[in-house]
Amino acid sequence: MQILVLNSGSSSLKFALLDPESGETRLSGLAERLGQAGARIRLDQGGAGQPERTEESLSGGSYAEAVARVMAELDALGVREEVAAVGHRVVHGGEAFAASALITPEVEQAIRECVPLAPLHNPANLAGIDAARTAFSDLPHVAVFDTAFHQTMPPAAYRYAVPEHWYTDYGVRRYGFHGTSHQFVAAEAARMLGRDPAELGLVTAHLGNGSSVAAVQGGQSRDSSMGLTPLEGLIMGTRSGDVDPALHDYLAREASLTLPEITAALNRESGLLGLSGLTNDMRELEAAAGEGHAGAALALDAYVHRLARYIGAMTASLDRLDALVFTGGIGENSSLVRARTVARLRALGLTLDDSANAANVRGQGGVISASDSRAAALVVNTNEELMIARQTREVVRG
Ligand code: ADP
Repeated sequence: MQILVLNSGSSSLKFALLDPESGETRLSGLAERLGQAGARIRLDQGGAGQPERTEESLSGGSYAEAVARVMAELDALGVREEVAAVGHRVVHGGEAFAASALITPEVEQAIRECVPLAPLHNPANLAGIDAARTAFSDLPHVAVFDTAFHQTMPPAAYRYAVPEHWYTDYGVRRYGFHGTSHQFVAAEAARMLGRDPAELGLVTAHLGNGSSVAAVQGGQSRDSSMGLTPLEGLIMGTRSGDVDPALHDYLAREASLTLPEITAALNRESGLLGLSGLTNDMRELEAAAGEGHAGAALALDAYVHRLARYIGAMTASLDRLDALVFTGGIGENSSLVRARTVARLRALGLTLDDSANAANVRGQGGVISASDSRAAALVVNTNEELMIARQTREVVRG
């Protein structure tokens, strides 16, 4: 059995064909610049080892054309008949979805109703669903939500202290995101520690271009650093994370900026990029800080400060901290960020095995805490495609 996983962005479509059991990937790739001039598609055959890569331009450059190209490739590979279902990543499921769902007209309508909560993401997800359902009309399609895993958060964690009718009329609350990744790495961490997931209290830190931490108790989310939108919480590549909510009013008055201009700057010109004045890329920042670039050093300091503070905060949402889990491009690869973050968490009794941490590079995974550390620290490689494929299989099996 093969599952086709689709992740559609505002001008891109990421795809992967994989076996939900073994995780073996037969085909993967990315269509970019959809709906613009110069649309392209990259197809990698044969998974992560030594993929055979082809790159082509897409003349029309629509989602439909990208999906049609993927379908033609499945036919060429002779695997079309093995595809049992299509799994779609959907960013915002609001309060309507606490789990993945078979896409019916009602489910599609509910995703549409969440568009005001994710005005950039959900319309793109719907465009991908539309194109794929036309091309693969004989297959079941499943929506896997970034928010669903966090629907177990208690009201004390998800409610903002704002007028109640903002919540009841407009859905103003914290939702949390990256749920697929937090759920996947929490289960993997339990497996790696040889422990029953039901007994474990975990802080999971997904540190990529977007970053969030979650409190996972007994396999269920209890808290997330992300809120109504993915802008809240940690310092990210280009997103500010937390700022004073009075900032908008102040900047509108003092800098004559409009609300959309301020929101755009907080999403795209802030975070590591804004602080360093250099780049949003952690690898480049580490190199620049090493060469004495003051902005890069500040960006790293602030990133680590906020991250450690949030890990402490998430710990307060657990019964007990058994392990801290690092994942995402930064969490899996940056031994420096891990070392500097854990060095600030002595109050929690966390200490690293410095050589295990330094040796854990390039997506290796494993335990990096010292033997006398009060809780474990681990690196776990996330695999959102595999998680989406597995959840899609579960929904289709019923
Ligand atoms: P996305 O959220 O877009 O999926 P990733 O999870 O791939 O992003 O994470 C991208 C981040 O990971 C970038 O900041 C990149 O610099 C960082 N990264 C990747 N490899 C390393 C490395 N070896 N050392 C430090 N940072 C790294």
